[in-house]
Amino acid sequence: MKKILLSLFALLSLASACKQNDASKSNQKATTQVGPPVDTFIWSPESFSDKKIIRYQIPGFDKLSLQQKKLVYYLTQAGYAGRDIIWDQNYRHNLAIRRTMEKVVKNFQGNRNSDDWKAFLLYAKNVWFSSGIHHHYSNDKFVPGFSKEYFISLMGSVGARLSDEALRAMFNPEFDAKKVSQNPEDLLKHSAVNFYDQGISEKEADDFYSRKKASLKDPRVSLGLNSKVIRNSRGQLEERVWKVGGMYGKAITEIVGWLEKAVEVAENEKQGEALKLLIEYYKTGDLVKWDEYNIAWVQATEGDIDYINSFIEVYQDPKGYKGSYESIVQITDFDASKRMRMVAENAQWFETHSPILEAHKKKDVTGISYKVVTVAGEAGDASPSTPIGVNLPNAEWIRADHGSKSVSLGNIIEAYNKADGSGLLNEFAHDYEEKERTRKYGEVAAKLHTALHEVIGHASGQLEEGVATPAETLKNYASPLEEARADLVALYYIMDPKLIQLGLMESQEVGKASYDQYIKNGLMLQLRRIEPGKSIEQAHMRNRQSVASWAWERSQAENVISKVTREGKTFFEINDYEKLRVIFGELLREVQRIKSQGDYEAGKNLIETYGVKVDQQIHAEVLRRSRPLNIPPYGGFINPRLVPVTGTDGEITDIRVEYPDNFMEQMLEYAEKYSFLPDYN
Ligand code: ZN
Repeated sequence: MKKILLSLFALLSLASACKQNDASKSNQKATTQVGPPVDTFIWSPESFSDKKIIRYQIPGFDKLSLQQKKLVYYLTQAGYAGRDIIWDQNYRHNLAIRRTMEKVVKNFQGNRNSDDWKAFLLYAKNVWFSSGIHHHYSNDKFVPGFSKEYFISLMGSVGARLSDEALRAMFNPEFDAKKVSQNPEDLLKHSAVNFYDQGISEKEADDFYSRKKASLKDPRVSLGLNSKVIRNSRGQLEERVWKVGGMYGKAITEIVGWLEKAVEVAENEKQGEALKLLIEYYKTGDLVKWDEYNIAWVQATEGDIDYINSFIEVYQDPKGYKGSYESIVQITDFDASKRMRMVAENAQWFETHSPILEAHKKKDVTGISYKVVTVAGEAGDASPSTPIGVNLPNAEWIRADHGSKSVSLGNIIEAYNKADGSGLLNEFAHDYEEKERTRKYGEVAAKLHTALHEVIGHASGQLEEGVATPAETLKNYASPLEEARADLVALYYIMDPKLIQLGLMESQEVGKASYDQYIKNGLMLQLRRIEPGKSIEQAHMRNRQSVASWAWERSQAENVISKVTREGKTFFEINDYEKLRVIFGELLREVQRIKSQGDYEAGKNLIETYGVKVDQQIHAEVLRRSRPLNIPPYGGFINPRLVPVTGTDGEITDIRVEYPDNFMEQMLEYAEKYSFLPDYN
């Protein structure tokens, strides 16, 4: 997967791991913002169903030049201009249903306090959140908590209409029940997603694409990426291409208009050339152009602004051909980049001083480059529900021949953490001292842990001569062991005075906050994401529990960590942080040895003993204690609003950032400003 999702990685507040939690922003003040000052900023204004609405900030926007601000503005507008596309891609009735709902929400003059009305609004919010009437993650259709008759009366009162089939889609649970189905009987017939005409079977689509593949001039192109497969009047299959003048042409023309403005303010030639290729691709629909664009985009690395805009990820197509429309506009996070650079520049010092065996140390180590960005606007597949990291392009041959870009969405991750609030900390922290330490240093600890994990953790160590790659020697344990190794490097060094000397932290309290969090998370908190009775499957979670419970067991003899029970609640208290550091160092040496020697048995033993099985009693307790905190599993984001400030001659003199706080209002505003497609396409 090229898209890193929060729910898949079981990210917990301040818990840090691969490409998921840099939380890169340290500059809290600063943006030219309209609205409340930062300390009173409401991160999560609303929750409904299984969802939480979150706001994010754009720190550093004011540090951009006017030209860069314009570029960010044009790119975000290009992104929003295509918003309707994802709705139609997700399901053929989505736009009609959405517009009808919006007309009712805006104009209904009757009782807005009834249970029916509340159920209707809840349904509308779920639909906005998922860009359609199917749940964004489970793919199941939402069940309205109000009757068809009530809805018909609402429509009547505002003069709105829907076709019988669209009403059936809303109210008949069996009809088009799954957006993307895994039903092996026929993936297409059981999926409601709008990438293939109704009635086209999986077999027909397979035949169609194998014929097409055979006739390709360049077999490497992303076949089928930018089109819908339809049945023509002669009964044959053909593609309707998404391009200017083609399907979704009206929205794509708008996108192109904004991209053309972006070209004029590009930061450098390479960035401008890439944008021009994207425009050409949108105009022609030519997939060879798409590859040329991706190569140019991957090579355009010099600017501070970057973007994703087009038909990108193919997860919504059960056959994996069709790209969902997506846009993310990114600004380099300068603070995080500085931190990463500082760690990378000292990579050799860290390697030399590591507790691993001398034979396993690299003689000449370089840090891994890792980019943290600040999101300025998201649309389509990335909004309101967003990835927290992205690695593109998807074409393997371009990645191999020309490289790829991997980014962590720093301000999004930060907003997630802020939105979780202090509920978990208050419930699970052992004492006042721990809570205060987390409040004061938790954020910088998480950022530093990520930097150390990514930049030196994964880069450290070497295999012994003649030992095959971990994928071959350690097999299915390679991934949790690799994450454990990187975490242990981070844990070992985050208590090191060297970091204070480098100016990366002000005291060892940062390291202590990191240890508190790691032990608490690995032994308890992360179990919130596991269903009762289940074992741990996910690599990052296996790694965390392995490290934490190995350290806990090891610490028994000297009482380095104690398990305290108060009023039926379990807490872990770290009594000696320096000794715990030594224990982490020991485990690091062992995990590095396992990797360097390809010791499958020892690796399997470590993970199976400490990382897979769940302590049933603790698990039940964690679920019981976190339930009242009511933290919904899914988050979705309100975008900031970028507003051009114009001079007397109409020229843009500045771009102002506003932070709207009402999800429904943003959805209505977007519908007003960025509706470029008809109800049916
Ligand atoms: Zn990692």
